[in-house]
Amino acid sequence: MSEKRFQPNASPIPDNTLSVYIHVPFCARKCRYCSFYSIPYNTEAADAWSRAVLRELELYNVHHPIQTLYIGGGSPSVLSVSQIDFLLRRLLEQTGRPTEEFTVEINPAQTNAEFFTVLKSSGVNRLSIGAQSFHPEELSFLGRLHQPQDISKTVKTARQCGFENIALDLIYAVPGSSLKTWKQSVRKALALDIPHLSAYSLTYESDTPLFRNLEDGRIVPVDEDTDRQMYEAAIDLLASAGLEPYEISNFARPGFACRHNFRYWDNRPWLGLGPSAASWFNGQRTRHIADLDQYIESIRKNQWAFDEVQVPSPLEIACETAVLNLRKTAGINRQQFISQTGFDPMELFAEPIQHYAALGLLEYTHETIQLTRPARAVADSILCDFADV
Ligand code: SF4
Repeated sequence: MSEKRFQPNASPIPDNTLSVYIHVPFCARKCRYCSFYSIPYNTEAADAWSRAVLRELELYNVHHPIQTLYIGGGSPSVLSVSQIDFLLRRLLEQTGRPTEEFTVEINPAQTNAEFFTVLKSSGVNRLSIGAQSFHPEELSFLGRLHQPQDISKTVKTARQCGFENIALDLIYAVPGSSLKTWKQSVRKALALDIPHLSAYSLTYESDTPLFRNLEDGRIVPVDEDTDRQMYEAAIDLLASAGLEPYEISNFARPGFACRHNFRYWDNRPWLGLGPSAASWFNGQRTRHIADLDQYIESIRKNQWAFDEVQVPSPLEIACETAVLNLRKTAGINRQQFISQTGFDPMELFAEPIQHYAALGLLEYTHETIQLTRPARAVADSILCDFADV
């Protein structure tokens, strides 16, 4: 450890604010590619889940100001209007309004003006809409329940209810898609004049029908070259509309970057509530059990519902912080990194920094370390060299 120059006075978590993520573990139907924990929605289970989440938040006895609150899933928009109203009112009684940002994930065709009005009156100021594609055959392949026209209807209704900060998610490299169909989806998203877009390459997670279909040869994945061209095309198209990449998969107009997700990339603490949710709090990384009944039962007994608890070492925290920071276009801020982790990144990561800088995949100054544009499409293979030094 000594040769890594750890400065023992540095606090691993120099932060007196907190972010909270709430996992809604219900969906109307499981999408073909999805590995998140979710089960079919039913009213009684959703009521019981909501009470358990609120009780868990009480158990944490949080005194930090809440900077950002994010309700995701699963499908928050599958909850009834009265359920979301109850949840938000009780949440705000416990935490107060978040100081910076309050996001709720929405599926197209699952909400109406009444739902949005409840969100708005509860202080929600950002919507993240799972659009995924503007082609019906791609939506059908992915197992999504909505049609392309539902996306624009949802955006329009949200705007009528006062939402301006609206993000869309799109997925590229869907089998059967082409560079042309992908560009069409991006252009249709931009035609809605949204200030934020996330673009993710389709991933084949084990334990999904998509993965099994790949294994048994029923589907042919998009080749790597096309995948990369799609990503590059997104960067160019989005930039021409004023949406700049601020993270590998995320693009926004100035002032519309997702502040909640910056907590993750800055490796600052957050609490995750609900089954399967992860947390980084009080120096512990925890993950809840991915089982609604067991989660509710544990919380009823005033017990934590974790099935994973890790206490990372200072060196592990530094490596995690580097990997997360490098996902941001701004990269690693050296002084911030030192005060947060106790390590000088220029010393700790001297080897991968020199290696990737020589390849033109990374650039650095005295104060910052950043991936270059060509590196972003292959970031995972680079970042693994920062994960373990
Ligand atoms: S709606 Fe979202 S969380 Fe639910 S199954 Fe589909 S991708 Fe997964």
